[in-house]
Amino acid sequence: MAETRKALSSHKRIVIKIGSALLVDRATGLKKAWLDAVCADIAALRAGGAEVLVVSSGAIALGRTVLNLPKGALKLEESQAAAAVGQIALARAWSESLSTEGIVAGQILLTLGDTEERRRYLNARATLQQLLKLGSVPIINENDTVATTEIRYGDNDRLAARVATMAGADLLVLLSDIDGLYTAPPHLDPQAKFLETIAEITPEIEAMAGGAASELSRGGMRTKIDAGKIATAAGCAMIIASGKPDHPLRAVAEGARSSWFAPSGSPVAARKTWIAGQLQPAGILSIDEGAEMALRSGKSLLPAGVLSVSGLFSRGDTIAIVGLNGREIARGLASYDAEEARQIAGKKSTEIAGLLGYPGRTAMVHRDDLVMTGALRPDGALAQKKDPAHA
Ligand code: GLU
Repeated sequence: MAETRKALSSHKRIVIKIGSALLVDRATGLKKAWLDAVCADIAALRAGGAEVLVVSSGAIALGRTVLNLPKGALKLEESQAAAAVGQIALARAWSESLSTEGIVAGQILLTLGDTEERRRYLNARATLQQLLKLGSVPIINENDTVATTEIRYGDNDRLAARVATMAGADLLVLLSDIDGLYTAPPHLDPQAKFLETIAEITPEIEAMAGGAASELSRGGMRTKIDAGKIATAAGCAMIIASGKPDHPLRAVAEGARSSWFAPSGSPVAARKTWIAGQLQPAGILSIDEGAEMALRSGKSLLPAGVLSVSGLFSRGDTIAIVGLNGREIARGLASYDAEEARQIAGKKSTEIAGLLGYPGRTAMVHRDDLVMTGALRPDGALAQKKDPAHA
């Protein structure tokens, strides 16, 4: 059955992307009253049980105001310098406004590599999860001071979509200076129709996204549709809404016009499909009966239940988990490299720090990174990577 739009308040984990033009005024700098109102909206969503993450633009816009840089396009070094100056102010503003709501902010600056390389992705994701667990609101931006053309997102729409998939969010809200998607750019075409629901991002929908971006922000409708593709494919719905009202999230909750992009699967299913879909697990862990029972009841795989480790894998690689009869039970992402896994196999989690020389993760494979595959592969057949040490 096709997904239907749910109330804002019934989402569990929401990523909110805020465009520069909403936060920063060319002449007067940061729009503090607006920010305070958004923070009140965030507090209300949290009070309703949602976890919230913010992807905030505005570093470059704020920095160029402070540094008095000329209007128009900036050179890369100028943007980097502007971001260095603006990001401090931006993070401070978020931290102060959220704290008046009794919320602790945590700053995360990401580059493209942090979301696209599996190992770094896992590190960034672990930090996000930990911040959420501690009740904090992560305030995320691209690390513009070090990102150069080849290695940068450049727009926070797609970054926000990646953050949403990384955090397993069920909703991404893009607050922008436009209230949603139209069949054509509304300021150019009076016939343009507003689209309230986008069930699927078809080539026609893509064609509707003009290239326009405002002077302060980099993203236009194009990057928003790209963001929609990333988010919805991972089972996360997306809303494009106007950030212009004083309480923009409350306005959406109360039914203000906005465009809703339907997710194409549940977040868990999408993630697990990704793991189960890895063609060649890079290694195999065989586990004892107790560990097998733990996995079947939805728990993580601890080192204590691991009998042997084979294969050459790195942290973050997909590995197969087999039972005593040699049949595959599950697949998951390794929390450790093969070498480390061998050292801690069969040992208690409390011994990890002593064995490895650093306090690693408690689980060999965390349950969030685990999918039961026994039913998918009754023959237990596995494609194995060549492993000279364990051939
Ligand atoms: N990361 C940029 C900044 O904070 C904004 C990118 C965008 O506007 O999408 O200034």
